[in-house]
Amino acid sequence: MLIAGNWKMNGDPSSMDEFGRMIARAPEATARGVDLIVCPPAILIAKFVDRATVSKIGIGGQDCHAEPKGAHTGDISAEMLAACGATAVIVGHSERRTDHGETDEMVGKKALAAQRAGLTAIVCVGETEAERDAGEAEAVVGRQLAGSLPEGLDPARLVVAYEPVWAIGTGRTPSLDDIAAMHAFIRATLTARFPETPVQILYGGSVKPSNAAEILAVENVDGALVGGASLKADDYLGIALAA
Ligand code: PGA
Repeated sequence: MLIAGNWKMNGDPSSMDEFGRMIARAPEATARGVDLIVCPPAILIAKFVDRATVSKIGIGGQDCHAEPKGAHTGDISAEMLAACGATAVIVGHSERRTDHGETDEMVGKKALAAQRAGLTAIVCVGETEAERDAGEAEAVVGRQLAGSLPEGLDPARLVVAYEPVWAIGTGRTPSLDDIAAMHAFIRATLTARFPETPVQILYGGSVKPSNAAEILAVENVDGALVGGASLKADDYLGIALAA
């Protein structure tokens, strides 16, 4: 079970206190076999890594460029994240796809770049509300999986996060049956692609301590990608302990 926290564009150096509380409580979760990864904004990664050395919390990035270095103002490479001590990076989050026009092809290149640098690639997929209402959720997610997981990816360092766009930050979640159906579909797709190695599948979108236990108990849900509720140690650990 993996509980990954996506801090998005939240946090500044004063957030070290909250992260310190997460570190203090992390052993409660890891003792139960729950892996923890926190993905703060890039400016905090090195600080979090320094602080996390005594704990079992892994630190991840929220995005990376596909190239290892070069003339790409404002971007950060997977190699840079790895050099700062990150062990994972989220790629293809719907906010990146929407705000920065990232296509499946770009996301796939970023996933390869992440693995080239030795990181675990957390690849996000998920349908919009209009797509779900039109009965196209599986078709959309199937297309995203096909386009965002190029040849050459190592399934052992791959995590797929299913995040329905309409559930992110809204307090709304799909029914447990809908989560089960989509995760079964993603499992079948990934097993066909990587028959030897199981890939972890996370659910993301409005996960909180009060709904975590039932969501994490759904078949083929191997963990959660948590946004808002990962900013507070009590909420984040509450989710991890519900696993
Ligand atoms: P949320 O975000 O938990 O705030 O809904 C999830 C995500 O975007 O990863």
